[in-house]
Amino acid sequence: MTVRVRLAPSPTGTLHIGTARTAVFNWLFARRQGGQFLLRIEDTDKERSRQEYTDNILEGLAWLGLDWDGEPVIQSTRLAEHRMAIEQLLASGHAYRCYATEAELTAMREQQAAASKAPRYDNRHRDLSPEQEAAFIAEGREAVIRFRIDDDATISWTDLVRGPMRWAGSDLGGDMVVARRAPSDRIGDPLYNLVVVVDDAAMAITHVIRGEDHIANTAKQLLLYDALGLPQPVFAHTPLILNKEGRKLSKRDGVTSISDFRGMGYDAVALANYMTLLGWSPPEGMGERFTLSEAAAVFDFERVNKAGARFDWDKLNWLNGQILHALPPSELREQLLPLWAEQGWIPSAQIESDPIKPAQIAASQSQSWQQALCELIGPSLTLLADGVDQAKPFFERPELDPAARDQIGSAPAQAALAALLESLRGHGVEAPLEAEQAQQLLGAACKAADVKKGVLMKSLRAALLGSLQGPDLLSTWLLLHHDGEDLQRIERCL
Ligand code: GLU
Repeated sequence: MTVRVRLAPSPTGTLHIGTARTAVFNWLFARRQGGQFLLRIEDTDKERSRQEYTDNILEGLAWLGLDWDGEPVIQSTRLAEHRMAIEQLLASGHAYRCYATEAELTAMREQQAAASKAPRYDNRHRDLSPEQEAAFIAEGREAVIRFRIDDDATISWTDLVRGPMRWAGSDLGGDMVVARRAPSDRIGDPLYNLVVVVDDAAMAITHVIRGEDHIANTAKQLLLYDALGLPQPVFAHTPLILNKEGRKLSKRDGVTSISDFRGMGYDAVALANYMTLLGWSPPEGMGERFTLSEAAAVFDFERVNKAGARFDWDKLNWLNGQILHALPPSELREQLLPLWAEQGWIPSAQIESDPIKPAQIAASQSQSWQQALCELIGPSLTLLADGVDQAKPFFERPELDPAARDQIGSAPAQAALAALLESLRGHGVEAPLEAEQAQQLLGAACKAADVKKGVLMKSLRAALLGSLQGPDLLSTWLLLHHDGEDLQRIERCL
């Protein structure tokens, strides 16, 4: 048997981290089992479904590296089959039309609440006589189609995450609506639980892997499989993602869309890695950093936890930093070029190829200079977007912040910088500068101005970066020694 799993997102919003994490577990299981990972777009809610959300969902999955097999199934194109299944349920006596009005149902629920009972449909129209039915139709009442759920039914299955599960029919809220707006001559609009069963069976889904908020649906769906004579898939209910307070992560918690994480500069590999850790514990010795393929090689449901998984920004940031730090400078540069082009620091043409000849351009536009910059700032990045902030003082001459201004204002700093400027001119403004020569220039300037090396270093940093903080000073200086940039930044401080 080939394993076939599916993700069934509703295109009523952007790709949510909960859905994406469900996708991760489906994908890992399919790849581990040599099976298939299918997509079904559940677009039956016409009012809320939008093409732009479908696009966002597909883009997000592709960006995360969750490739799917075949073309996505579009649920709304399968309406005829959904209706046929309901015809079958009506014919076999598993379903019937219910004519209860909204007002009657509300009154029923109010009575239940007053008696401290859980709200449920009381199956009042289960066994209408043809005359009663005709009378309701004559009144012009609108019908829904309900599926019989016997109170004394027991529904049990072995969940891949949660083990043996049991539900009583009496806990499912009474006979369930499977279609709305269904007058006697029409089937109307089939609803979620019914269409999911029909579609999962048609797609030959062997394992349904989804969030634990669907457990009650699973109990109902298992009854539908039986009534329709369809083979039941295996179920796995994955733990929910929780916020800091331990409640289900929701829109109110701020960033929850994959496209938002992407926009913030998170790396796809880091985010996929982090989502895998939200509910799955890697086997001993594997560590916490891995790619999806590495996880797929060992993934199983035994290591998926039952308890909810708390979302931890620090952990995600740490993972993201680790992945950026491990990138070779050439790759980091590739990733940063579009962001730098957005800032206008490099021509956007440079992203496609390197058509500009180094001789015609400023050093900062050359590949080797940019790569050296990446080597310098790479180890301190948490997000890719930090590669914009940290590169900024290398592309744009920065203002001095108050601390840098204070540092430079002192007499010894002025003397030291003036001496350094002198030796720099002696070395040649245009002449290439190597680390060793730079050290010699610093030594000579300290001697000439009679200041401690620490004073000169601190002042040089303030002059070059406009701040007392920043990456390694010598490397910073070597990078800024292009087109006389270092000289001009020192000069303006004197
Ligand atoms: N469209 C449903 C959802 O987004 C699918 C649930 C399922 O996997 O059956 O929650």
